[in-house]
Amino acid sequence: MKAMVLKKISPIEEEPLEMVDLPVPGPGQGEILVKVLACGVCHTELDEIEGRLKPKLPIILGHEIVGKVEKLGSRVSKFKIGDRVGIAWIHSACGKCSFCREGRENLCTRFQATGCDADGGYAEFTTVSEDFAYPIPERFSSSQAAPLLCAGAIGYRALRLSGLQDGQILGLYGFGASAHIVIQIVKYRYPNSRVFVFTRPHQKEHQNLAKKLGADWVGATGDTPPQKINCAIDFTPAWRPIVEALRVLEKGGRVVINAIRKEEKDKEFLLKLSYPEHIWLEKEIKSVANITRKDASEFLPLAAEIPILPQVQEFKLEEANRALILLKQGKIQGAGVLRISD
Ligand SMILES: [Zn+2]
Ligand SMILES: [Zn+2]
Repeated sequence: MKAMVLKKISPIEEEPLEMVDLPVPGPGQGEILVKVLACGVCHTELDEIEGRLKPKLPIILGHEIVGKVEKLGSRVSKFKIGDRVGIAWIHSACGKCSFCREGRENLCTRFQATGCDADGGYAEFTTVSEDFAYPIPERFSSSQAAPLLCAGAIGYRALRLSGLQDGQILGLYGFGASAHIVIQIVKYRYPNSRVFVFTRPHQKEHQNLAKKLGADWVGATGDTPPQKINCAIDFTPAWRPIVEALRVLEKGGRVVINAIRKEEKDKEFLLKLSYPEHIWLEKEIKSVANITRKDASEFLPLAAEIPILPQVQEFKLEEANRALILLKQGKIQGAGVLRISD
């Protein structure tokens, strides 16, 4: 099979993904072999390629996989050949530790990530345990469904962790792939809630999209909105939005941070944290790590029902380096997706 393989850490501009011919993997016990139809291109791949996250090497990247079941390993009972399935960031977890037993498998010490610890979807085929694959609703094309498996599922988790109740005000800091899905869920599920969106001051396109999707107020990070917010989700790689969100947060409110890592550059903002202004009166800060199977399997049918139909820009498998360079430059319209097979 054809696969784009990362062999060593390198700047994406050096086009480090190499097209390689590999044997098609055989599905083991309880696993399915999936013929990859589409695989989304994500910022996390840039972090892996450039060494900010440490993948096993060599690795086939890609964790927003939509494909068709091609072959069943022994003891597979949930899927049949020809079913369309999705595979997300969670590739496996131990199933035995206290976190797994409590449904918090995203925190399992033996958590394996797709396209990082296990080979992913930048290839014609991949394998996964049937327990970590999800049916894809018919409503979506394969390319449309791919970004829902990452930005969508993690946005859904962040929204759940925010504790938003219908009628409360939610603040969104940053308005990229995840946030533009979250606002659509909120408008559908919490019809009496208002959403305030904060972006960088020059991000007029993001602000306009936020208004189009129903934002009740739009401003720049650091602005004081017309009312305090009950909870906030921060989607940025920066520190300033956390401090600003805490400042305009209502008593007992929660700020959820949806980022695998934060940049160092504006860390001095943390020095501005004042106990009475930002923390006192039971304000909380919580991060979001990974996703659980429940997040993906609840979110996909909800997205079909709303419906959330992401705008995608398609590339061929062999164009993966170019797609990632464009992603880094912020030049992709909507979500980038590798269209691997029909
Ligand atoms: Zn991702
Ligand atoms: Zn575990």
